[in-house]
Amino acid sequence: MNNCPFCQIAKKEINSYIIAESDNFLAFLDIHPHAPGHTLIIPKLHFEKFQDLPPDLGNDFLYLVQKTISLIKKSLGTDNFTLGINEGSIAGQVVKHFHFHVMPRFSNDQGHSLHAVVNNPPQESLEEIYNKIRTVVD
Ligand code: 5GP
Ligand code: ZN
Repeated sequence: MNNCPFCQIAKKEINSYIIAESDNFLAFLDIHPHAPGHTLIIPKLHFEKFQDLPPDLGNDFLYLVQKTISLIKKSLGTDNFTLGINEGSIAGQVVKHFHFHVMPRFSNDQGHSLHAVVNNPPQESLEEIYNKIRTVVD
C-alpha cells in the first residue's frame, strides 16, 4: 500500500534492523524501543488488523513469533515477555499495517502487566454480557 511505512520495510525500500523472517512475516527492531530487543512482527503483505489476517497464515506467524522469542532469549538473556497488539486506534494502533509487539521484560524494568492497559470494568453483570455475546453465536 502506498505511503505505508511497514509495506516499505517489508519491501526493504526503507532500512530496518531485521532479525528474522518467514515466508509471510518479518521481524524487525522497533525504532523507538520500550525495552532492549523490542521487536515488531509484520505480514509482508498489507493487512490493517489482526482480524484481517488470513487464518492460513497462522502457522507461519506463530513460527516467527516463537523464533523471535528464542533469539531474544538466547541473546539478551530473558525469557519474560509482554506480547501484544494495539488493534484499532482506540487501543493505540498508530501504524495501520498489522504488527505484533514482542517486548522483552526484565526485572525492575518499571513495566506492568497487561491488566494495567485498561481500567473500564463493565456496569453490567457477567451474565448480561455473556447473553449479549451468545445472541450472535451461530
Ligand atoms: P502501534 O502504536 O501502532 O502499535 O506501534 C507502532 C510502532 O511502530 C511504534 O512502537 C513505533 O516506534 C514503530 N515504528 C513506527 N515507524 C517505524 C519505522 O519506520 N521503523 C521501525 N523500525 N519502527 C517503526
Ligand atoms: Zn502496509
